[in-house]
Amino acid sequence: MTAVHFRRSCCEEAASIGAERGGDHAGQQNVVSEFGNHFNNAVFSKNREFLPMKTVKTITILLLFLTAPLLLMAGENQPLYNLTVNIEPDAGSISVRGTVDVLPADPAASTFKFDLHETMAINRLLVNGKEASITYGPMQAQLPFPATRGVIVTLPAGTSKGPIHMEIEYDGRMKVLPEFGATEDMSHSLDDQVNARMVELAGYSSWYPQLSFGKRLHVELTVSLPQNWITVCSGKKLEERIENGRVVTRWSSPKDGDIVILGSRDYKKKSFEGAGFHIDVYYTQMPAQFIDSDGTQIVNSLKLYSDLLGNTTVPGGTVKHVFSPKRKGQGKAGFAQPGLIVTSQGLTLEGLAQDPKFSLFQGVAHEVAHYWWNFGYGQGDWINEAFAEYFSAVAMQKLSSDQEFRAIMADYRHQVSELPADAPPLATVPIWTDFVVRYYKGAVMLDTLRQTMGDEKFFQASREFFQTYTGKPTGTVEFRSFWKAKLGAQGSMIDAWMDSTGGVPKVTVHPPASKDRLTRKSGIAGPWPCGPCS
Ligand SMILES: [Zn+2]
Repeated sequence: MTAVHFRRSCCEEAASIGAERGGDHAGQQNVVSEFGNHFNNAVFSKNREFLPMKTVKTITILLLFLTAPLLLMAGENQPLYNLTVNIEPDAGSISVRGTVDVLPADPAASTFKFDLHETMAINRLLVNGKEASITYGPMQAQLPFPATRGVIVTLPAGTSKGPIHMEIEYDGRMKVLPEFGATEDMSHSLDDQVNARMVELAGYSSWYPQLSFGKRLHVELTVSLPQNWITVCSGKKLEERIENGRVVTRWSSPKDGDIVILGSRDYKKKSFEGAGFHIDVYYTQMPAQFIDSDGTQIVNSLKLYSDLLGNTTVPGGTVKHVFSPKRKGQGKAGFAQPGLIVTSQGLTLEGLAQDPKFSLFQGVAHEVAHYWWNFGYGQGDWINEAFAEYFSAVAMQKLSSDQEFRAIMADYRHQVSELPADAPPLATVPIWTDFVVRYYKGAVMLDTLRQTMGDEKFFQASREFFQTYTGKPTGTVEFRSFWKAKLGAQGSMIDAWMDSTGGVPKVTVHPPASKDRLTRKSGIAGPWPCGPCS
């Protein structure tokens, strides 16, 4: 399971209001799950000013933003899921049968645990070919998992300890809960739903047995829905067939962060090609112009990052952006898994109703940037977020306007300056917490490095950093030594940024000769409008 962060939207001028909940810097209670769900309390007005939390209660739109970096690397003990899921939208029910191969958290124990949706009845459970007994207990995940209970499995007598092969069959009616943001009661809200309107299933509902948190999953998935439904999952679509009035699709995702199933009778699809990528955008009632812009923005972000950093692989070979037809829900740009970005269609339409210029551009650009920035490992996950966030701001600069870039960076600097004095340093910031430190302080540090080194050197070094470490578990130690070497005589500024608690450290920046700064002669080649080229 990979990290999923509920986070503030990045594109405030378009969003009007972004709000998150339970953050660090505003002293509210954090809600942190083992998925890493992180609700922040940052609330911003149209002009990116901080608003007191009370104001939020009067604001009807809560635009949250959830993102999922690809956290974990090859070589880990990767759980393998092979599941067949029958979904009955009208009844709100699912039935699942399949296998899970996993090394339990404590391989020496005579029991192991998993989390499962509380209304699911387990009809069959075999471990290594023998029937196993179960009891129920507290869930392993932390809030917000409003419909989850723990299942404790006792290993059958004579079962050898170590890796387990679990065969399981269960079914039930999904618990009906309000969508996230539809009521004040966030901790009992859930976007996962199965009904006549739509299907959205992800880890939040624990619709599948959750045995290990924080590991990439190898997922082989077969989904059956009534024949007139359209199914979208993460990973690669292997097959679609009609069988007894049902549409059956098969999907394979070798390194996923979650098992996501989306469905609607009414999905329309618009496809885009560009920069060597195929992009499918799914929606039910978005304006055509918005979908065109969205597809173009994804193409242009992919092209920009490819030009800046070099080629990467998009899992499944296709970028899917799905506007799930929920009315509220988490996120502005939504959440992302390999090759899949999921956005609330209802929130997007609300945003558009309030502001015709409403855009998801930076949020989507952040998710797209994770196709490159995903090798930060463990505590080094901040590297993924700092680079994805900064490069999404760079995408705004290169593809939208320099003014927008400056507003974004001014906002981040402001938020970083408001961090409490004891906010943890980047070098030790824990993986699931401290959104402003990991995303914004990291991004402001990168912007400072860019100003110090000049565009050409900074983007060349970013490219080299990506190409050196992609696919390798990378942490703070590697980041520090790489960038220190690139900074040469000014290498100590890295330590100041990495090791300082609180906000912006006091670092003297010596920009390079002006001709090397933000000029068209920089090493960034591309057709995008070059905002600061003056
Ligand atoms: Zn991210």
